[in-house]
Amino acid sequence: MTLKKIAQVLDIVRTVERPLCVFDIDSTLMNTGQRNYRILQEAVLTYPDMGPFVAKLCHCDMGYTIMDDLRRAGYANEEVLAKMNDFWKVRFFTDEYVLYDEPYPGAADYVYDLHAAGATIYYLSGRDEPGMGKGTRASFAKHNFPMDDRTIMHLKPRFEMDDFLFKLDAFADIKNLGREVVAIFENEPGNANAFKEHFPKAAVFLIRTITSKTPAPLRRDVVAFDSFKEQ
Ligand SMILES: [Mg+2]
Repeated sequence: MTLKKIAQVLDIVRTVERPLCVFDIDSTLMNTGQRNYRILQEAVLTYPDMGPFVAKLCHCDMGYTIMDDLRRAGYANEEVLAKMNDFWKVRFFTDEYVLYDEPYPGAADYVYDLHAAGATIYYLSGRDEPGMGKGTRASFAKHNFPMDDRTIMHLKPRFEMDDFLFKLDAFADIKNLGREVVAIFENEPGNANAFKEHFPKAAVFLIRTITSKTPAPLRRDVVAFDSFKEQ
């Protein structure tokens, strides 16, 4: 399927039998900026010298890691920065903190429309089920993402499992559902490329939000877009 715009997905969903759409969660549907910003605010209570630097940052402009954000703001206390990854990890990957996430503009409405038009929605994320499953569902309910017997929430069974290998396992699961995969949405070029390789007939879209530090070059047949509000 060679679709140019995300709005066209709705037309295809209406015309095929048993359509299915796949959505990555973090930095695709959900903006993790507020979650990271909240962690930074707490870090200031433990490391007060960070205060003036955190004050320069905005939840609306958080990068891939809070260590990068702090460095960007000019914070250079390497001794504390070395401790920040653990400080961040024990909070970021939890039911409690995932509730700070906000959907990107138009994301919930877009998924809602596809679901209402008949698509099965497959939420796929490297979030781990034991630590984040409950919070993820609560957050999706709070923000009106569809969740019923025509949606699937596939999270990592164990925190330690490698994200990319988990996604490869998920590809097999999606294929086994016997539905027509119409469209797939990702924010990480490497994942989007892998999806396109495994589901050549599906339209694969990449939302331009944030990516890991060294993103793979995007395949030419993956379509990049900026917002779910784009029509
Ligand atoms: Mg993601």
